[in-house]
Amino acid sequence: MRMNSMALPDLSGLALRCESIGVGGKSDEGSGEIPRRGKGKQEQDTSTQEEPRDQTPASADGFVLKKRARWNAPPWRAASVLDFMFENPLDGKFKDILSVKQMLQNNPGIVRQYNTSYCHYGYSYRKRTVLIGTLTQLSLKCPCPEEPCRQLTLYGKHSKEVAECGNAQKNSLPPLLIDAMVDGWISRHAGRVERFLLVDVFSGWGSIERRVAEKKASGQWQKVFTFANDIVNRSHTQSNLDMSANTPWNPGALLVFALNALWPEHNAHVTEHPRGALGWVQDNGVAVLFHCSTPCQTYSTNALATHRVAGTADPKTPQAEHDDAMNASLIDYFTRNVLHPTKHTK
Ligand SMILES: [Zn+2]
Repeated sequence: MRMNSMALPDLSGLALRCESIGVGGKSDEGSGEIPRRGKGKQEQDTSTQEEPRDQTPASADGFVLKKRARWNAPPWRAASVLDFMFENPLDGKFKDILSVKQMLQNNPGIVRQYNTSYCHYGYSYRKRTVLIGTLTQLSLKCPCPEEPCRQLTLYGKHSKEVAECGNAQKNSLPPLLIDAMVDGWISRHAGRVERFLLVDVFSGWGSIERRVAEKKASGQWQKVFTFANDIVNRSHTQSNLDMSANTPWNPGALLVFALNALWPEHNAHVTEHPRGALGWVQDNGVAVLFHCSTPCQTYSTNALATHRVAGTADPKTPQAEHDDAMNASLIDYFTRNVLHPTKHTK
């Protein structure tokens, strides 16, 4: 089912994904500097002191060592089929806005922040990224150069700069990073669900959908399904809903559309379920991951001078206020529906 015909009256706040990867002091791209091992360890987790420390440093052979978290998710979270993950440039300000900081502080052991970089996952340039959400057991590498990638270790630099890449490449998640996230998601629900539904809230250029299709074609991830939304209509998108705070849309609406598109035979059951689509997926063994590569147009390092008060995450333009409100609205939805123990679990 395509939702492209839905009214999108206001495109002034066009939520294009960031077209420029941040550059500057702690740049996303390698400068050839000599990496300083261990520097990043203290920078790993800015969420809360109680939060389990993010990825432990990689061992000499490059594998990430697992470390026991001090906080474990409570039983109601383990039983929930619902998850969400945000993604944005690490050196930008998304992770520093109030709604994100409060979500991390209020949910130790339930919401986790991961810092990493694309060059660890097969890309020839270093885009440092942050993932924040409820998949708390992922094994992701620490960002380069604090934990230098193979290229930096061998050659002292990255073979490609972000500026050399086209928009589709710059804004695509590395397939191997998608694998780490999706495989971790599948592991979390192993043996408890029948199907996995990844709702791509800001699907951009469709990198997640491409990767899932590749995996399915190779015989893997047979139970993984995607539903791609983006305000921009592209060939892979199945809906073009505006997630801005002042619209009626939210991730729950996307879930309804996704269920209707994928399994229309259950449409009546979803509609009639006393707890709606969220209750239906819980009772019918469908794990749902809302993935939010939220637009970084006012958060990335090269956008900060224009959109944020110097040295802070405070917005100073209507676009920055819009983006903060949209993310606060998404976080409010997730707080009420995913981070709440009494809803949507049996
Ligand atoms: Zn690197």
